[in-house]
Amino acid sequence: MTSSQSLLLSKSLSTLSISKEATSDYIPKYFDVGVNITDKMFDGYYHGKKYNQNDIINVLKKSLIHHVNDILLTGSSLIESKNTIDIVKKLRNDDDHLNDIPNLYSTVGVHPCTVLEFENESENENEDINTYIEKHLQNLENLIIEGLKLNIVKAFGEIGLDYDRLHYTPMDKQLKYFQIQLELATKFNLPLFLHMRSAVDDFIKIIKPFIENNKLKNKNLLVHSFTGNSNELIKLLDLEKNDYKIFISINGASLRDQSTIDSLHLIPINRLMIETDSPWCEIKKTHPSYKFLTKSPNKFYPSDYENYEKITSNNKINQVLTQQSKKSPSLTLFEFLPIPIIKHDKFNKFQYMELFNETPLIKSRNEPCLIGLVAEVVSKILAIEPEILIDNCYKNSMEVFGEMDTIERT
Ligand SMILES: [Zn+2]
Repeated sequence: MTSSQSLLLSKSLSTLSISKEATSDYIPKYFDVGVNITDKMFDGYYHGKKYNQNDIINVLKKSLIHHVNDILLTGSSLIESKNTIDIVKKLRNDDDHLNDIPNLYSTVGVHPCTVLEFENESENENEDINTYIEKHLQNLENLIIEGLKLNIVKAFGEIGLDYDRLHYTPMDKQLKYFQIQLELATKFNLPLFLHMRSAVDDFIKIIKPFIENNKLKNKNLLVHSFTGNSNELIKLLDLEKNDYKIFISINGASLRDQSTIDSLHLIPINRLMIETDSPWCEIKKTHPSYKFLTKSPNKFYPSDYENYEKITSNNKINQVLTQQSKKSPSLTLFEFLPIPIIKHDKFNKFQYMELFNETPLIKSRNEPCLIGLVAEVVSKILAIEPEILIDNCYKNSMEVFGEMDTIERT
């Protein structure tokens, strides 16, 4: 950091107290409806190499500090869905973390990029492929039944179509297993957690008969991580019939293209949700959304005022922030929140842990605690008061994934 940069930083830290009056007593409550907790990055792997320990506990603690009350974890393969349920089961039984992490729930399903697992070679040479597919479906079904009993599974998915990534799964296989998994979905009273990229017409062609013929017991469908344009959004919202509701969730990836940003006003406020899709889909400096972000404390991160106070009045931190040289270990605060941020290969060497009450963010790794940034951008783009935006997204998420009557198979 140059001396002018550190001067700027200390100046921006010291002027923060001015904005205290700007914050009200309002405390936001977030429901992050998309988090990939079994992703390798949360296990310390980057580019195939392990750099640090699994830190999901710290990631979850940080989420609750920043008002993330509930998280729907995404299952994207049979094994990942199972592992996700196991993580939730373990954490729920861990008395140490009863009150310091958000409420956790999970989906079960096979992502379009992973559906070739339905055709993995059988261990039994004589078994034909259809028998293997049946077995895999049965395993999914059993996992859902187990997850429902535990009150962990709250949605079926993610399932759908992804034509941006046909190199993982060819189109015909994506179509086949989207259809097959929708048939399985008809057995459960679970909302659908849907993934759709650049495939709107085929997506609608497959899912429409399930809606028109009233085949799904649960009438709530979420198309998550929306990255399309107005035309696609209109087509998706047009699916609403027979009391079915189409919800749309927005993350950093939804805010990277102007055409998607321009479409967002078409989403009715009672159909909108927000998510991080972490560790992916962060808001980047190069995105048109970035300019909407402001430094906390603000309506989206109000209680960070205290954290900032603590940090700005901490001589040691100020000293390190303003006197960094090439020789001393670096300390950088995230641009928008009073959390240190560090590169993944430096995480284990972070020397200032005792000065902060949360672990550093890792550069380029998204976390649920950053959902307030999504809320801020969406609130500003749609010109909706922060409280109204945040409360509606939470209410919609609770309506679909919160405590509900989960009727098992009939
Ligand atoms: Zn997805």
